[in-house]
Amino acid sequence: MEQRMVYLDNSATTPVDPRVVDKMLPYFYEQPGNAASRTHAFGWQAEEAVKKARKQVASLIGATTKEIVFTSGATEAVNLAIKGFYETYQSRGRHIITLPTEHKAVLDTCKQLEKRGAEVTYLDVGPDGLVDLEQLRASIRPDTILVAIMWANNEIGTIQPMAEIGALCDEEGVFLFSDATQAVGKVPVNPREAGVHMLACSAHKMYGPKGVGALYVSQKNPIIKLNAQQDGGGHERGRRSGTLNVPGIVGFGAAAELAEAEHTLEADRLTQWRNKLEEQLLALLPHTAINGSTEHRLPQLSNLQFTGVDAENLLMIFNQHLAISPGSACTSASIDPSHVLKALGLTDDQAYASVRISFGRFNEEADVDFATQTLVKAVQQIRAMSPAWQEMSEG
Ligand SMILES: *Cc1c(COP(=O)(O)O)cnc(C)c1O
Repeated sequence: MEQRMVYLDNSATTPVDPRVVDKMLPYFYEQPGNAASRTHAFGWQAEEAVKKARKQVASLIGATTKEIVFTSGATEAVNLAIKGFYETYQSRGRHIITLPTEHKAVLDTCKQLEKRGAEVTYLDVGPDGLVDLEQLRASIRPDTILVAIMWANNEIGTIQPMAEIGALCDEEGVFLFSDATQAVGKVPVNPREAGVHMLACSAHKMYGPKGVGALYVSQKNPIIKLNAQQDGGGHERGRRSGTLNVPGIVGFGAAAELAEAEHTLEADRLTQWRNKLEEQLLALLPHTAINGSTEHRLPQLSNLQFTGVDAENLLMIFNQHLAISPGSACTSASIDPSHVLKALGLTDDQAYASVRISFGRFNEEADVDFATQTLVKAVQQIRAMSPAWQEMSEG
């Protein structure tokens, strides 16, 4: 019998949509131009292609094309936003507010700025992962220049109330940055409507290629100025020098157009499958819990805790044919428990017992039952070998 291979780690990265690849291919071959070459048709074609992609990405998030800066991914976009902003606005104050549940791209960038004289406040989050708006308001000081709060969390999928956060920041006169890498293309994201002044996203989390992302930077009411973090030919209006990744950008644009057209239906489908998986696992495996908010959550993602199970050992049982993550892929190189789950108040043991399962466009309904069967068998196998679990379930 042929062994199925099921990929349920779409929050780490998504496969590229074949329709996206089709749009990219000509820019490797017949149209190899540099978008900055002004003296021949190859350059003009590349420039046109980038222009179209910029429109597609801008349209997905309700922005204007001037507000889109193409980067090598969300990590670079986050660095450009936070460091570039800090360097421009530090004369007004050096205080930044963020969450302990942010992606490392944000946390490590803030850490770097602390070495350069920034003061960073890490707000608490509730057991559901949500920010406490009153605590946010109370933590804003006269020298606060920036609030950095992610749109949706990459480990637990919690979606923050961005419009409320935006309104609060507006009242208090501070700027707002959001890492929306997990949200863009999955749920409606409109920074201008939400009062978000800078926003990062990435193509490879939304069925586009790896190595390309974008930073949205508000260019009217207010105009945000950023210090470039990379100098060179003055590309991207001087905000990010370097030859543009034309095929990647074309792919990002195509992925954005598909997401805009299809995300609503797709979200409905993936929510059904995610919910079905959770219902089955909760029914078949006692002492299983969902981590994070079940109400304000990305459609495709589930973070589950299996008491008495070590996730790393669990995954070893089936990692040849079912791909899921222990906690977050971005922290799984280290053996520390997930900083996100810890921030929710989970113990180390609870954090180590947790896995992230994330559906995507190319899953099938049959993957739900396959994942259920595989997980149930593996969890039961590990629990059967654990004396502590035996004692607990008998007691
Ligand atoms: C994946 C991810 C990033 C990093 O994006 P890259 O494009 O891989 O650099 C940043 N933030 C969040 C929330 C992510 O999920």
